[in-house]
Formats: sequence, structure tokens, C-alpha cells
Amino acid sequence: MKLRHARPAAGPLRGAAPAGNLGLNSDRVRGRMVERVRALGVRSPRVLAALTAVPRHTFVDAALASRAYDDCSLPIGHGQTISQPYIVARSAELALEAIADPRAARVLEIGTGCGYAAAVFAQLFGSVYSIERVRALHERARDNLRPLRLANLRLVFGDGAAGLPAEAPFDAIIAAAAGEEIPVAWGEQLVGGGVVVAPVGAERQALSVVARDARGKWVVHAVEPVRFVPLLGGVVG
Ligand code: SAH
Repeated sequence: MKLRHARPAAGPLRGAAPAGNLGLNSDRVRGRMVERVRALGVRSPRVLAALTAVPRHTFVDAALASRAYDDCSLPIGHGQTISQPYIVARSAELALEAIADPRAARVLEIGTGCGYAAAVFAQLFGSVYSIERVRALHERARDNLRPLRLANLRLVFGDGAAGLPAEAPFDAIIAAAAGEEIPVAWGEQLVGGGVVVAPVGAERQALSVVARDARGKWVVHAVEPVRFVPLLGGVVG
């Protein structure tokens, strides 16, 4: 997945994804998933449109495809899970609220997993990078995302705890794995006014927005309780 640096506008998916083997009308079922996410409190029309555009069932194993539009996390192998749609939506909404011009924004996702959230973020932001520490998942995400042809999304294999210094700075860093603290590197790789949206905590975690206050001090604003897989160091594979 190559990012063209002459940045193409983010936008609706080009090249429709294959319908997959869902055996039901996936548009209608996805519409119901989006309604549930809205009922849970995500009101941004842009975020809801992005969820509507991404065929979540193509990111999970065929055996789980019939559950792809339940608002829950599902296993994707290697002890990892595809994030709950509501959480993907809420994280995107929190990042959007902090970004003046989303179409010009550079966003880093930590924890590509199967690539679902990355595809949603690529609908919303100008350039999206997503880093994954398990090579097999990185490769699987690449396969899952290929049919969607998202020219503004770039996948990277590596340890996201160090951020992605080669492509910094970012307007937002959105994490899909929880650490007890936000890595210092993430703060260093933000633009002025940038935010980290991440689950913070161990046993008890809160989806949190981390930003500098007027005096330049980092402030962690806990938004709601969540349960994410842990942020681990190093790479696998
Ligand atoms: N956003 C993903 C959710 C994946 S679960 C989706 O939509 O499917 C979180 C992912 O974070 C896992 O794949 C895990 O391997 C990855 N992860 C954990 N620690 C990491 C780190 N330090 N760097 C990069 N990825 C990490």
C-alpha cells in the first residue's frame, strides 16, 4: 500500500470491495450497525459515513462474517481482535474534534490488526499511516485492504511504541492497544495542537485524549472506560 506524497483527497472508497460470502444484504446489516453506533452517541456525520463505507465483513474470517456487523470485537488470530465499531468511531470522532482540516491531516494508527480501523480512518483524514508489530497481521491487513485501493493509507511493520519518526509530525496518533502510560515518543511526534487518542491503563482502562494545555503541559482527559489488548514492545516475525 503506497502513499502518494502528492496527497490524493480522502474520500469514499474507490473500487467496490467484493460483497464476500456474507449470504445476506451486507449494506442493510451495516446500516443497522451504523445506527447502533449513532445510538451509542457518535453523532459526527463524517464518521458515520466512513463506517458505512467500509465493508467490515471482509476483514474477519469467513466463519465469523455473519457476526461482522455486531457491535463487538472479534478474534483475528495471534491473540488479537478487530476493534468494536463503536470504539473505532468514537476514537475517530475524538481525533476529528481536535483537527481543523481533516483532509490535510496526517494521522498515525498504532496497531493495524486486520486493517479495519485504518480503512475507516483513511475515509476521514488526508494521510493515514498504520503500524503493526506482528508481521503476520501486517501482511493480512495488506491483503484485506488491497481491494479497497486506499491511496492515502500506508501500512508499516514495526514497534509503534516508538511512533513513526520517519513520517512525523502527526496531527493525531490513535492507538488500538493500551499502555499504562502514553509513550513519550508519541507526544514528541505531534504537531502543535495535536492529540493522542488512546486507551490508557492496565486492568482498568479509559479511552483518553492527551493534549498539551495552554502552558504546554500534557493533560490526559479520560473519556470512557474501555477494554483494549495491551500495547507490547518489540516485533513478532
Ligand atoms: N485497529 C485494529 C485493532 C487491532 S487490536 C483493527 O481494526 O483490527 C490491536 C493491535 O495492536 C494488535 O494487532 C497488536 O498486535 C497491535 N499492537 C500492540 N502493541 C503494538 C505496538 N507496540 N506496535 C504496533 N502494534 C501493536
